[in-house]
This record gives sequence, structure tokens and C-alpha cells, in this order.
Amino acid sequence: MKIFVTGGSGFIGSNFILKQINETNNIVLNFDKLTYAGNLDNLRDVENNSNYQFVKGDITDYKKLWETIKTFMPDAIVNFAAESHVDRSIDGPMEFINTNVTGTAVLLEISRNYISENLSKKDFFRFLHVSTDEVYGSLGKEGFFTEKTSYDPSSPYSASKASSDHLVRSWNKTYNIPTLITNCSNNYGPYQFPEKLIPLMIINCLKEKKLPVYGDGKNVRDWLFVTDHCEALSMVLKNGKIGETYNIGGNNEIENILIVKTICSVMDDLKPRGNGRSYTDLIKYVKDRPGHDFRYAIDSKKIQNQLGWSPKENFSTGIKKTIEWYLENNNWWEAINDNSYRQERLGVII
Ligand code: NAD
Repeated sequence: MKIFVTGGSGFIGSNFILKQINETNNIVLNFDKLTYAGNLDNLRDVENNSNYQFVKGDITDYKKLWETIKTFMPDAIVNFAAESHVDRSIDGPMEFINTNVTGTAVLLEISRNYISENLSKKDFFRFLHVSTDEVYGSLGKEGFFTEKTSYDPSSPYSASKASSDHLVRSWNKTYNIPTLITNCSNNYGPYQFPEKLIPLMIINCLKEKKLPVYGDGKNVRDWLFVTDHCEALSMVLKNGKIGETYNIGGNNEIENILIVKTICSVMDDLKPRGNGRSYTDLIKYVKDRPGHDFRYAIDSKKIQNQLGWSPKENFSTGIKKTIEWYLENNNWWEAINDNSYRQERLGVII
């Protein structure tokens, strides 16, 4: 299978590509704009593999996309490319509209053209759109998001992802584009950019910096180890029913403050502080984020029953693996902290 991946230099996309290259014979082209969140270091291990190619490009650039698609002739497009950080969407929403909404529409148009010019292998081509559970808005203390839950996004990020999901569904219904959508809960694991909760806390512990927790820390998220998400995506791509949506979740509902305390406790074991005290001393409650959703929880019975997927990691095993990865790969995150990861490398001007 030839897979055209967008946003493959980010957190989930790079984990997906590593899995494809290391565990299958699939050929992958990674089309990525290399925003601040795109990092060529994530794919160092496969950059010279003959089954992997990289093209620097923007999913809103129809011409470049079309030329690349026509040359590569993919069997599938998997769309990870997005602006993905809620706080950044509050500070500057327009880039989210541009990439997440316009970019997805351009990719759908490219797919329409690709199919109508009979360039794709008929009945085989798939457009897999990777989305988030945040499109469903906030839950109270009870209940779960199912694939039938109405959309009710709260932030410019989740609203832009909700819009993109609607576009994907409409291109399926109107133009018969063979689309698939996945809505996944919060991911964590190797290569996650240090602005997100879990890597931020690990790195702040290591730097003896404060551990900022929004509001009272009682907001609940469902956490999924990134390789479990990537496995689910492979299964949806292979056996998902055209036009359908699949919710993906880890059955790990945890309050933010508990996440931070768990990280502190694992860090206390793996990398005790010089002063002999616990990292929990560094926790600091800060003013809540506007529009902060209280709780997300995913009902993933559909993908479990229909495609046979289930997560392999629980939060205790996944968080330990994640912390160990950040401890062993300090060069990776230090290059982000000092901005050297954005210097010219591999002939690509970033
Ligand atoms: P990320 O921010 O780590 O990576 C995004 C990637 O997209 C980067 O490599 C960036 O350079 C690239 N990109 C951004 N704008 C682009 C553009 N205009 N053209 C081409 N490339 C562009 O994001 P992530 O956490 O890996 O998330 C990937 C996808 O999964 C997103 O669509 C996100 O909404 C979705 N998702 C993420 C999570 C999560 O917990 N991280 C959960 C559910 C769904």
C-alpha cells in the first residue's frame, strides 16, 4: 500500500510512520509544512529507508499537493496535518481555520480530482481523516461520547476540527469520496511536543520548574498511548467501512491533577530530586483556561466490536514508558527547548 501522510512530522503522524515503515512493507510519503510542531528528528530512524519519502509542503497549497499526489499515486491519504494546541488556538485562531478547515477542504478536492481522473485504483482508495473527541464538547460527571453524540465544540481548535469532520462527511455524501473519520481521546507517548501536558510536566520536573495545573485540576480526560492510536488507525484504514466514523479511546479517565501527581511519583522513583523531596512540591495551580471542557470520555465499543481493536497499554504502563523515553531522549527535547531543531537540516530550510 502507498500511503500519503500529511503532518507526519508531528507527534502522532511520526509514530504512525515509524510503525508503517518498521512493521509493514507499505510505502509512505510524508507531506508536512514543518511548523513549530513538525520535527524531522522524529523520523531520523527511517529517513534513509527506501520505503519513506519526505516532501515539505502545506496542505492549503493545491498545486504542490496535486503535483506530489500525481507523482506518488497513493492508495490512501491519512490526514494528520493540523494546528493542534488548544491554548494556541485561543491566542491566534486564524491559523487553525486555515490549516484545519481550508487545508482539509483542499485535500478533499484533491481526492475528488484524483478519483475523477481515474488515477486512483478504483474501490481501493481511502481518505482517512484523523480527528479528536474534543469535537463533542464537554461531558458532565457521567456518560460517554459515542459516534452519534452531537458536535458541541468549545475552543477554536475543536471548532476547526469539527468543521473539518463535517467537510469530510459531506464530500463522502455528495461526491462519494471513500472517507473514514476517527475521533480519538488525548494521546501521550514518545515525540509529543513539550507544550502538551504530559511532556511539559516531565521536562519541568527535570528542570526543577513549577508544574502549572489549570483551575482546580479536576478536569477529566481519557488518555491513550500513541501506539495504540496508531494501531487503531491502521485497522480503520484496512477494514473500516466507507463513510463511517470510529471513536478511539483508552478507557483511562483521569483527572489532570492525578496525571501530574502520577508523573511526580514515577519521577520520584526513576530520577529522585537532589534535595530528597518529592516533585509534587513543584505543583502550582494557575488560572483556568477559558472554555475549558470539564470531562471527555470515549465509548469505543464500535471499533472494538467491529474491527477487533483494543488498547494494549493502560495508563500505568504507558506513562512509565513515556517518562523513560523522555529521560533517555533528552537530546530530542533539549533541541526543541533551545530551538536548534528548526535549523537547516537534510537540505530542508525550515
Ligand atoms: P502535532 O501538532 O504534533 O503535529 C501536527 C503536524 O502537522 C506537524 O508536523 C506540522 O508541521 C504539520 N502541519 C501543520 N500545519 C500544516 C499544514 N498546513 N500543511 C502540512 N502540514 C502541516 O499534532 P498531533 O498531536 O500529532 O495530532 C495529529 C492529528 O491528530 C491532528 O489532526 C489532531 O487534531 C489529531 N488528534 C490529536 C490528539 C492528541 O492528543 N495529540 C488526539 C486526537 C486527535
